[in-house]
Amino acid sequence: MAEPKKKLSKTRTNLRRAQYKATDLEVTTCTNCKKPALPHVVCPHCGFYNGKSVTQSAPTKRIVLDQESK
Ligand SMILES: [Zn+2]
Repeated sequence: MAEPKKKLSKTRTNLRRAQYKATDLEVTTCTNCKKPALPHVVCPHCGFYNGKSVTQSAPTKRIVLDQESK
């Protein structure tokens, strides 16, 4: 495999990496609730994705202690 002829100095490496900058997040609007949401991510406000509700409300498990004692 091809190898670099010389070792790149820390300065050169850091100067190159200094050009890497964070970019703003691309925010879209939810098709269901019209609130801002990240693309390709389930809406944090209403739990819809691709027009469908994908978040499950946890089934309420109620342990009735009275039935066990009877
Ligand atoms: Zn939404």
